[in-house]
Amino acid sequence: MPALKDATNPYHKTSFRHRLIHWFEHNKRPLPWREEKGWYPIFLSEFLLQQTQVEQALPYYLRFRNRFPTIETLAQATEQEVLTLWAGLGYYARARHLHKAAQTIVSRHGGLFPDNYPEALSLPGIGPYTASAILSIAFNRRHAVVDGNVVRVISRLFGIGADVRLQNTKQVIRETVEDLLDPESPGLFNEGLMELGATVCKPLKPHCTNCPLQSYCNAYRYERTAQFPYKSPPAPKKLNYHYVFIVHNSGRLLLAQRPGKGLLAAMWEFPVIAVESMQPRKEGAIRQLLFDHYGLEGVIHSQTSLHRQTYSHIELHYTAFLADVKANAAQLRHYRQMKWEPLGRLQQYPIHNAHKKLIHWIEHVLEAMG
Ligand code: SF4
Repeated sequence: MPALKDATNPYHKTSFRHRLIHWFEHNKRPLPWREEKGWYPIFLSEFLLQQTQVEQALPYYLRFRNRFPTIETLAQATEQEVLTLWAGLGYYARARHLHKAAQTIVSRHGGLFPDNYPEALSLPGIGPYTASAILSIAFNRRHAVVDGNVVRVISRLFGIGADVRLQNTKQVIRETVEDLLDPESPGLFNEGLMELGATVCKPLKPHCTNCPLQSYCNAYRYERTAQFPYKSPPAPKKLNYHYVFIVHNSGRLLLAQRPGKGLLAAMWEFPVIAVESMQPRKEGAIRQLLFDHYGLEGVIHSQTSLHRQTYSHIELHYTAFLADVKANAAQLRHYRQMKWEPLGRLQQYPIHNAHKKLIHWIEHVLEAMG
């Protein structure tokens, strides 16, 4: 069978679509948003799945679906409730966008997802990918969806060796998917292509022997699957260094809410101080830093080893100190607000991942301190 690129005969496109959709209908993973009717489960899952694997997003989907069974309940929630439920998944801007999109759908569209591309695209947090995914899967509209899985499958099928980070290459791939898209069943076609990438045409070891599209595939035919897609190395991330202060006073810990804009906006954390490097400092110097920044005087009890957390453009290195302080009036600095809370109440706050990881250590140290 000729590779698709050579196939000017529409028969090849038709049989390609049929094979893909037939395979998808018989092999798709039984995910809850696929089992349910209506657009709301698709809408919710598309927000949760951005830059996240299905396995990781699944428990969050179930939690959100249970807590917010309708778009109205989600719209009525507070931002803090949504962020708290989202905590641990990362990319918190998505949580705020999900919440704002729900509010816009309720206030401007009467609680119904706008089933046309320009209005869908105007919703908070909905870009071309999410708009196309929701419209094609939930409303069977003819919009091609291109995610990382689709890029991989298409570059292998057609032997596209250009750098997939480049806009030009992305455009070629988008046009290719638009050309292949099944006009009768665009949603099933899109889901099929994404599912094939996620479960068969895997990055390192594609299961070509189980692939319904094998006979169309250039990379398979020339035994070059490992060479596609080509992705140039990413730009190096900026290194940031933080001292994190677990400030303790009379059985309570100091929590701080980050500003409403920027990285981890409106999330909660333990107060931090940005430093130039992680080179060791004497205890006196660390106490002085705490006093200079937050006006808190105290004793440093313990310190963690070095932790790392990666964000899209930043790699954060941090170490935490448990500081027992005398008074509980702290300077706000750049934070929105601060609160003193007992350890048992921390789970009620949307604390971002890097600091959430410290809670187990805090429990341990506080217990040892008695
Ligand atoms: Fe991917 Fe292999 Fe299928 Fe080609 S034959 S699309 S490389 S799984």
